[in-house]
Amino acid sequence: MKCPYCGSDQTVKNGKYHDKKTGEIKQEIHCKACGRYPRISIVPQDKPATPSKNQSTKKFIQPSAGISEIEFREKHDNRYILTKKAAALLRGQLVPEPQFIEMCHVRQNAGYKGIVVHPDFEKYRGRAGGTWYWSHPETIKKLKNEGLMT
Ligand SMILES: [Zn+2]
Repeated sequence: MKCPYCGSDQTVKNGKYHDKKTGEIKQEIHCKACGRYPRISIVPQDKPATPSKNQSTKKFIQPSAGISEIEFREKHDNRYILTKKAAALLRGQLVPEPQFIEMCHVRQNAGYKGIVVHPDFEKYRGRAGGTWYWSHPETIKKLKNEGLMT
């Protein structure tokens, strides 16, 4: 055992001591290096320090475990993904819908068509010559006003 005062390993056990205040069993040692008799808390042999059930369940609710709701949505919530990507569309730049969907990494078989027709996305979409395009709402509005898009 190491002496807590000087850190020396030159110690001998000097009997166990029961601390009545804390209920702890302490090992008294005699340090040959500094001559002191420190008492060190020890765990009794019959009560090994095993993690209790409470400690192991705590691990599950630590915020560092798992992913956040935002991270979950970024993976699985197609409407969330499209909303975010649509907000990043540039003025004057038109993206054909299949390309836009690909950019969003939304699986095209995952019912995305039901999502893109949502009124929230109306301002980002316009159709010309049978193709749907996505763009900044100002660009879509301008082209619709000019009759180039519907
Ligand atoms: Zn010492």
